[in-house]
Amino acid sequence: MSRRMLIAGNWKMNGDAAQVDAFARALSADAGAISADMLVCVPFVYVERLAAGLADAPVALGAQNLAAEVDPGAFTGEVNGAMLADVGCRYVIVGHSERRALYGETDAVVAAKASAAVAAGLTPIVCVGETLEQREADQTEAVLAAQLAALFEQCDRATLAAAVIAYEPIWAIGTGHSASPEQAQDVHAFLRGQIADRDATIAESVLLLYGGSVKPDNAAALFAGADVDGALIGGASLKADSFLDIARATG
Ligand code: PEP
Repeated sequence: MSRRMLIAGNWKMNGDAAQVDAFARALSADAGAISADMLVCVPFVYVERLAAGLADAPVALGAQNLAAEVDPGAFTGEVNGAMLADVGCRYVIVGHSERRALYGETDAVVAAKASAAVAAGLTPIVCVGETLEQREADQTEAVLAAQLAALFEQCDRATLAAAVIAYEPIWAIGTGHSASPEQAQDVHAFLRGQIADRDATIAESVLLLYGGSVKPDNAAALFAGADVDGALIGGASLKADSFLDIARATG
């Protein structure tokens, strides 16, 4: 099966109204010529502004987090999946390493959030990845297998079939040191194999994104991996030029 390439931006807690507007203008002008699917995950408060700016562009909107709770209620400060869908999101990042490390999100919480996203009609981009210590101790595969196992134990098939998986080695995020194309492909092949052991159909269709210091100058080599179906991009997604250049590198 041939899978479409997906290029996802993660602005993290960055940006302001002027940057959103400039980004939307640039993408509206140039995104039409790009064959990959594209989406941008901005802070909640800018989703509607970016959606309006991208109204005529083939670029989807996403959020960076959502509540694990599906129904509205007494959850001060939280935003649920239905609200994200309501303001135009189609995607949501779940289990980014920053949320796991800084906000205590466990594998169980990540799985609950992935399920909540799908219940609201959103595509969860579920992040997995190992620390540098784990890689150096040869634990990468064990760590990733455990993160995936939690998803398979807790999520129903509809959630698993809808999810995108982003392999984001923590040592590569925001460091300028990307995984090599070989390291990325090796891990992606391992992830697809783990998924195939449970469900061959999902393994064929699931999009596996690589994230961690993807830039215009390393993107094409990373995308050459047969199991690399695109990228989740932090720093280089903040500027339209570099984001578009990475998307063009999908060929
Ligand atoms: C990220 O934020 O998910 C990420 C991969 O960041 P960067 O591209 O800046 O390494």
